[in-house]
Amino acid sequence: MTALQPRPRVMSGMRPTGRLHIGHYFGVLTQWIEYCNSADAFFEIADLHAYTTGFSDPQAIRDARNEMVLDWLAAGVDPSRSTFYLQSAVPEISELQVLLSMITPVSWLERVPTYKGQIEALGGEIATYGFLGYPLLQLCDIAIFRGQEVPVGRDQVAHLEFAREVVRRFNYLYGEGQEVLVEPTAMVLEAAAEVPGTDGRKMSKSYNNTILLADDEETTTKKIRAMITDPQKIRRNDPGRPEVCSVFALWKLVKPQHVPLVERDCRSGALGCVQDKGDLAEALNAYLRPIRERRAAYAADPSQIEAIIAQGTARAREVAIETMADVRVAMRLV
Ligand code: ADP
Repeated sequence: MTALQPRPRVMSGMRPTGRLHIGHYFGVLTQWIEYCNSADAFFEIADLHAYTTGFSDPQAIRDARNEMVLDWLAAGVDPSRSTFYLQSAVPEISELQVLLSMITPVSWLERVPTYKGQIEALGGEIATYGFLGYPLLQLCDIAIFRGQEVPVGRDQVAHLEFAREVVRRFNYLYGEGQEVLVEPTAMVLEAAAEVPGTDGRKMSKSYNNTILLADDEETTTKKIRAMITDPQKIRRNDPGRPEVCSVFALWKLVKPQHVPLVERDCRSGALGCVQDKGDLAEALNAYLRPIRERRAAYAADPSQIEAIIAQGTARAREVAIETMADVRVAMRLV
């Protein structure tokens, strides 16, 4: 028995498409902080993926890159215990995509449920070859690090099924009995509850209902004061229904020990929404204070951000080059 088991490799990423909000924090980043301890985690700045929808504004993607990493660092994701890397600066990922595209039937990509949905939602402009190939590029992100476990939301499970099929086909065609590429398994994040935004819908930059990690305290308080609560609770003393209220949903994340009290006083009518929101704003600002202080400290030193990305990318490339060497041998390219 060896005392030290190697930590499982976990790969996750985000597209640099804007500043991060508390939905990203509670939904994803708290999990990432956990991976820094439990796994050998690779966190990808998925800039190539950002081009699938943002190709007409490359500067926005460039600007969002360091802002996003600032948000990761502010949240407490530890780059000394994980690997932050820039997807486009690991060209092996793109090379693998070209090679795997040769064995990927178009029908498999068209079958991925998010594809038709997104085409309908976003219109013809997104009907590019790159967008169709999005799940394949995602597979290459994972396969290049021989990631075994991939944390995914429910809506991403189909992507992973697709990934497993392509890997299986690759190993069957070229592996000669070896698992040259690793079939990834999904770790479905059941617990990652959807964080509601200030209007009650899912918090999302496209709905303009976010509270950003980079917001100051005053902005946060203003946003919370404008939040929609239970529409049936009109007067202060009306009994409220916490289960339909997004202020209540945020309490659960920000200060769980306070939840029973809010629930009791909201239902009885003792607690008015104005008071409740004021209290939440205070609690959320207190919660975010260390995060915001860390953000400001890192923001004061942009060269440190660049260095963190450069170091992580160099480590990511080492692993990627090794995988590609095996892929090239398997495909008789050498
Ligand atoms: P993308 O367009 O790249 O998916 P998003 O900003 O929509 O970027 O989401 C990035 C990640 O953050 C995804 O894993 C998503 O599930 C998670 N996320 C986004 N908004 C929320 C939210 N309101 N609550 C929980 N998780 C969220």
